[in-house]
Amino acid sequence: MAELDIRTISHWIDGAPTGSTSARTAPVFNPATGILAANVVLADQAETDAAIASAQRGFQEWSAWSVAKRQGVLFAFRELLNARKPELAAIITAEHGKVLSDAMGEISRGQEVVELATGFPHLIKGAYSENASSGIDVYSLKQPLGVVGIISPFNFPAMVPLWFAPIAIAAGNAVVLKPSEKDPSASMWLAELWKQAGLPDGAFTVLQGDKLAVDGLLNSPVVESISFVGSTPIAQYIYETAARNGKRVQALGGAKNHMLVLPDADLDLVADQAVNAGYGAAGERCMAISVVLAVEPVADELIAKISDRIAKLTVGNGAQTGDAEPDMGPLITEQHRQKVAGYVDIAEADGATIVVDGRSLVVDGHEDGFFFGPTLIDGLPTTSRAYTEEIFGPVLSIVRVGSFDEAVALINSGEFGNGTAIFTNDGGAARRFQSEVQVGMIGINVPIPVPVAYHSFGGWKNSLFGDAKAYGVHGFDFFTREKAVTARWLDPATHGGINLGFPQNT
Ligand code: NAD
Repeated sequence: MAELDIRTISHWIDGAPTGSTSARTAPVFNPATGILAANVVLADQAETDAAIASAQRGFQEWSAWSVAKRQGVLFAFRELLNARKPELAAIITAEHGKVLSDAMGEISRGQEVVELATGFPHLIKGAYSENASSGIDVYSLKQPLGVVGIISPFNFPAMVPLWFAPIAIAAGNAVVLKPSEKDPSASMWLAELWKQAGLPDGAFTVLQGDKLAVDGLLNSPVVESISFVGSTPIAQYIYETAARNGKRVQALGGAKNHMLVLPDADLDLVADQAVNAGYGAAGERCMAISVVLAVEPVADELIAKISDRIAKLTVGNGAQTGDAEPDMGPLITEQHRQKVAGYVDIAEADGATIVVDGRSLVVDGHEDGFFFGPTLIDGLPTTSRAYTEEIFGPVLSIVRVGSFDEAVALINSGEFGNGTAIFTNDGGAARRFQSEVQVGMIGINVPIPVPVAYHSFGGWKNSLFGDAKAYGVHGFDFFTREKAVTARWLDPATHGGINLGFPQNT
């Protein structure tokens, strides 16, 4: 959107981009070139308060609109988003680095939630029990919470906000979105789209910032709920702080996802899917596959097949289009590139074999970009930090196991429980897997099992703090508060008179 000054990215308050008085900013890079593309302002307390106050005014107006009028805004937003996806994809690629087709895919998955949210009247209509007791009807209302906070990570700057905001807004809430400071422009583009769709000012507010802005949301008595997605230590902090402050909270954290390969699996299919799920978006997906558990004797053959495929992958500037589009773009920052390289160093020091080494990859013409080549590790000890911790880069490790039971025990021993997949032609084994594995999202011959919008998204263990997953029915429950009404319209003929006993049903 041409009218936005992308050199300094600021907040979206009261339905427009606003200036900032905060003295603090953070750099936003184009990760493919390593060039500073913009600065994003980091809110101070006064700006945080202003954003929340704007959302509070937006809530007063928006929550009073009829269901029919609100639904019109949701449909308009869906049409605008669908028609203008390529613009948003280009913004995502420029700040995140992922290739354009992947950015388009991210938006499409977010759009699914918008489409679910267009059907919100059905999902918030409550229930009615006529004559629950003699002459008494009982019914439930699902009302919005008020001002809700969304705090999102860098890796899906459009999709993660779209996991929450359409449902929150459809249900009548006003949103304050605090995007990642690493790729903040997508949030501003979404804000302008909401405005064009007819959403009242303040009902979608963007607060740029870091911990100070986040703490402002966590400590504000006006903010009723927090939906967070990011790394596990921050998710835990968000959960504990928001809960202590009496807020409803869902905090989705990090992951370490395993793909279990049984000896009867089609190894060409497995190799294709392991490469897709391990290296897509340069491994910066919370549902990326990080570890392949190969039940012997398949490991050697599988490593050969994966290596062949890696040799054909192209790494480059994700903004290149058509046939020039690479398979993989850069990592988000130089600091993150070094962190990923550090995990490969750890694996090597712990005795693993680096079969394909992406540490020293340089992309021609993009020597300052934050690139890291696809990396394949064999024989990673399960005691290594490269096995137990999230790497969040294009690093796939093979761990050789002797049996299905050994593999499931390994998966269940980990800290995380976000996603996992099994590859087999044995339906019985797949059924046991889905029943026994301690993970929230499971793929059967599907490597990245991100549920569709009408099933909810979320992991177990340290991958999700709180009781509600993202979107689906969980989303509508999270963003509404139920009231139960017990009503009697008196019939003078059956007036019950005075009775001091506890109400009983008759
Ligand atoms: P992050 O935890 O560093 O940041 C997430 C958000 O928290 C950002 O908006 C950031 O500004 C804010 N933040 C950072 N430090 C903070 C602090 N000390 N106090 C308060 N707020 C703080 O995560 P990231 O690097 O942006 O994203 C990658 C992580 O997100 C990975 O761990 C990945 O697995 C996870 N993730 C999880 C899911 C999921 O659904 N479970 C989805 C996407 C990403």
